[in-house]
Amino acid sequence: MSREQWVSKSKEITIPNQMFIDGEFVSAVSGATFDAISPIDQRVLAKVASGDSIDVDKAVAAAKRTFENGVWRELNPRDKKAIMLKWADLIRENHEEIALLETLEVGKPIGDTSGYDSLAVARVIQWYGEAIDKRYDEIAPAPTNSLAMITREPLGVIGAVVPWNYPIVIASWKIGPALAMGNSVVLKPSEESSLAILRIAQLGIEAGLPKGVFNVVTGLGDQAGQALARHMDVAKIAFTGSGPVGKKMLQYAAESNLKQVALELGGKSPQVVLDDVVDLDKAASTIAWGIYYNAGQTCNAGSRVIVHESIKETLTAKLAEFVGNFKVGDPLDPMTQMGPVVSLKQRDRVNSYLELVGASGEKFLYGGKKPTGNDCYFEPTLIDGTKHDSRLVQEEIFGPVIVVETFKSDAEALALANGTNYGLAASVWSGNISRAHNFARKLRAGTVWINTFDMSDVITPFGGFNGSGSGRDKSLHALDGYSALKTTWLDLS
Ligand code: NAD
Repeated sequence: MSREQWVSKSKEITIPNQMFIDGEFVSAVSGATFDAISPIDQRVLAKVASGDSIDVDKAVAAAKRTFENGVWRELNPRDKKAIMLKWADLIRENHEEIALLETLEVGKPIGDTSGYDSLAVARVIQWYGEAIDKRYDEIAPAPTNSLAMITREPLGVIGAVVPWNYPIVIASWKIGPALAMGNSVVLKPSEESSLAILRIAQLGIEAGLPKGVFNVVTGLGDQAGQALARHMDVAKIAFTGSGPVGKKMLQYAAESNLKQVALELGGKSPQVVLDDVVDLDKAASTIAWGIYYNAGQTCNAGSRVIVHESIKETLTAKLAEFVGNFKVGDPLDPMTQMGPVVSLKQRDRVNSYLELVGASGEKFLYGGKKPTGNDCYFEPTLIDGTKHDSRLVQEEIFGPVIVVETFKSDAEALALANGTNYGLAASVWSGNISRAHNFARKLRAGTVWINTFDMSDVITPFGGFNGSGSGRDKSLHALDGYSALKTTWLDLS
């Protein structure tokens, strides 16, 4: 579709503005709303219901009722699977509308939301749906006159609190395995990205998901989010977001019912280029996509280039040349590669980091423009000369900004790569597979790529080490996060 067709479609679609509880769209009991603002032009897209503890109580009660009456948990696995597969089909059928809602609200290019995000959600729901009737429990090697069974039981009501950068994909990473294991879910989206997930929730009912099994409470973090994380009837909080809010989640759990907490937090992922890299052109374009995709608002964004000093000039020249052809602009244009960052608040946050450049000898090799007024559009930005202990290197900027560091030896490169509080992802580029593999083994990161970046699918786990959190989304392992092991020992004598 052309830009004009997307614009015209955006005028036809219904923008949801209520929360989704017990299978119905409802306003907040208090009547409160907040504005969903488009970063494209600061237009108010909708006045969205702003939930508080009363709305969270309603949603948790609906989820708890469905869990206890077994309407989902005890449904025949085959039937559960059929509903999840139907849901995935409906998401696919409506993926352009879902993509538009996301693009309008968070500014992500329509090529990405229609070509990746919305379809990835369908794939995740389908994948976990298919897993429902293919996973077996265990029988332990107990004495002959005993039968000791190890079964996985759902936990109950899962509270999912998710961010705005991949609002529906990350939501699906929680909803898919949680529902596949038979739990009921209450999800609190970020206040920056409420719309697309509401449409997906509605499609769940159309697919046959019983009312109350999946609920969405829109609202602010310290109101709806906190109420959910403190709720006494929530068995687990599955959180993706920033480190400071992750710490609060642990606190809320400790101060309420000791619910389980899974944390998927930020990152400052290194892209390490050794001196025997074979294809520097491929490395440069992959490194650029590894940071500038989604305007750098990706938890595992490869925001640090760590390059051998002998090839630094060549690599940075290639990077600058590549991003010189990058198309930054209107996210409704399918040719756009980088849209605005999500909000004026995020714009100001990124600007505050760009203001640090120059204070200790750093300089822009590319970009560096600080948008002002209503403008949320950055250039791809490349910064050289950063000191390893500077905030530019140590902190997550969450914008299209990459910093360059150099090294002489592999040991030095490893120390730089592992030298932040994060450990979400990393990459290493080398023509020598043994050297690359030895290096990869020593990287402290949940995902390591060799001679590539950001390859991923629902088939492999995703999560971090250290300050990047300890939870794991995706893959069959995620199912373990939404279940508890139960031993049932029978005396057969
Ligand atoms: P955030 O921590 O500000 O918000 C995340 C969610 O928590 C939102 O729904 C928000 O409303 C809610 N929240 C905020 N304050 C709260 C409170 N006091 N109590 C309860 N809930 C609260 O993060 P963000 O700005 O939405 O997202 C960006 C962050 O998410 C970055 O740090 C990024 O790296 C991280 N992230 C991590 C992963 C991963 O898988 N590791 C994936 C995507 C994003």
